[in-house]
Amino acid sequence: MDCIFCKIANGEIPSTKVYEDETVVAFNDLNPQAPVHILIIPKQHIPSAAQINETNSAVVAHIFEVAARLAKEMKLDNGFRIVNNCGDDAGQTVHHLHFHLLGGSPLGLTFGSAE
Ligand code: 5GP
Ligand code: ZN
Repeated sequence: MDCIFCKIANGEIPSTKVYEDETVVAFNDLNPQAPVHILIIPKQHIPSAAQINETNSAVVAHIFEVAARLAKEMKLDNGFRIVNNCGDDAGQTVHHLHFHLLGGSPLGLTFGSAE
C-alpha cells in the first residue's frame, strides 16, 4: 500500500522516531508548527478517526498514554495540545490516523483550523 506513514512505521521511509512499541510509533513532524511537534500513529493502517470502531479503538487509548509520557519526557509541564485532523474539511493530508502532539511555547488557537 502506498502510505507514507505505513512506510515510516516499517522503516522504509526514514524519520526521527522518539518512541516505538508493538502497536504505535511516534516521530518528529517534518514541518514542525511548535518547538515540540510529534506525530503519534498506530502501526496498523487506519485511514482516519472516522474509521475508529470497537475493534481498533484500544490503540487510541494507548496513543494518549504515549502522548502523556512523551509530554513529560519533553518537559511540556506548562501544557500541550493533541490534535487530530479527520477528512478534507479538517485539512487531513496524510490518510493514516495520526495525532499531533504540540507544545514548548504558547500555541495560539489556530492550529488545524480552516484558513
Ligand atoms: P495532517 O495535516 O494530515 O493532520 O498532518 C500531516 C502531517 O504529517 C503534517 O504536519 C506534515 O508536516 C507531516 N508529514 C507529512 N509527510 C511527512 C513525512 O514524510 N515525514 C514526517 N516526519 N512528517 C510528515
Ligand atoms: Zn498507512
